Amino acid sequence: MQNLFHNSLALARTLDSKDELSEFKQQFYFPVYNEKEVIYFCGNSLGLQPKNAGTAIQAELQSWRDLAVKGYFHGANPWLYYQEYMKPSLAKIAGASENEVTVMNALTVNLHLMMLSFYRPSKERYKILMESGAFPSDQYAVETQAKHHGFNPGDAIIEISAREGEKILREEDIVDAIGQHKNELALVFFGGINYYTGQLFDIKKITGAAHEAGAVAGWDLAHVVGNVPLQLHDWNVDFAIWCSYKYLNAGPGAAGGVFIHEKYVTDKKKQRLAGWWGNDERTRFKMEKEFIAKPDASGWNISTAQVFNMATLKASLEIFEKAGIEKLRIKSIRLTGYLEFLLRQLKNIQFEIITPEEPERRGVQLSLFFKEKGKEIHDKMIESGIIVDYREPGVIRVAPAPLYCSFEDVYRFYEILKDNF
Ligand SMILES: *Cc1c(COP(=O)(O)O)cnc(C)c1O
Repeated sequence: MQNLFHNSLALARTLDSKDELSEFKQQFYFPVYNEKEVIYFCGNSLGLQPKNAGTAIQAELQSWRDLAVKGYFHGANPWLYYQEYMKPSLAKIAGASENEVTVMNALTVNLHLMMLSFYRPSKERYKILMESGAFPSDQYAVETQAKHHGFNPGDAIIEISAREGEKILREEDIVDAIGQHKNELALVFFGGINYYTGQLFDIKKITGAAHEAGAVAGWDLAHVVGNVPLQLHDWNVDFAIWCSYKYLNAGPGAAGGVFIHEKYVTDKKKQRLAGWWGNDERTRFKMEKEFIAKPDASGWNISTAQVFNMATLKASLEIFEKAGIEKLRIKSIRLTGYLEFLLRQLKNIQFEIITPEEPERRGVQLSLFFKEKGKEIHDKMIESGIIVDYREPGVIRVAPAPLYCSFEDVYRFYEILKDNF
């Protein structure tokens, strides 16, 4: 694909004019810096605000004002069923059926809840295999879960690292390690895309290897959902969790998403920590003893729907529904490919792109590793109206989300780096 590109503004504009998703950019608010809209390549950290988000919150405020408690049953979107409204779109994005997804809490809380159901260690089989350098919150969750079950994290957690001198994990090393530990593994838990390197793992293959070893496969899809299409049901993933404020654009602290495979959701006896929102609606308000789980992923819901944290997600999913995750992925492969092509033309700054080159091994994001001056260069980018983020050690993450970034944005980014650095 690289040789389809050359470096001119005219080409960027041609690519935009042929892009059937280009109109979606208008549906988002861009921060302004020095009187100009910024180039926003930070959707991997916090997606931009969709213009329909405010209206969506207003609608719920209106229901609350006009209906008060009756809002649970009446109004535009009765709150009693609030999670249900998001299931069709989320199921498409996750490659799941509607009964396999729910919306609740936030990512790390959901990871704990899922581990409670799916990390059921025995004396022999208690180990958790994960990537070294996983997102800190995931590390803390897994470490404290191991302790909670009375294990020493140093013994219970097996971390897979990149080989000496390499930045990217080799999938064969992961599969080999799973095989080596097959008699003691309870859980294989990975981030679908590593937040630091941008490496996308083969979820199907690693899940298959985990199952062959007799372990459960859980995934943190914070950087995958809304970025790369998934087939969680067909890949036989046991559980997955994600947040909604990165590529899903639902705003800071928006309610998180959960996938639980169909083979578990009808099992009302499956271990969980329960609350009334996971109880069958028909008996929920009878206020009787004994929890009766809903026979789908919402059987894991605990508390009353967090309507104001979900309204923005509901609104943003309407945009995904119109754009389509498959089309977004096609554009995203082009956009990131174009970014990579232009970055490779730069001679004035020294960095290494550590994200894999193959489109099927990455999503939107490219991670640029700077041996030196990474932080300085990042600060200068921000000063130039480019929003990207910096992660220690030495990495600037650049993520042009296809819903609201254009080829011209990518070209302008390149031009600023070429002329001002
Ligand atoms: C963003 C992110 C989180 C954030 O967790 P919260 O509980 O939503 O704060 C967790 N894990 C990964 C891999 C992330 O990228």
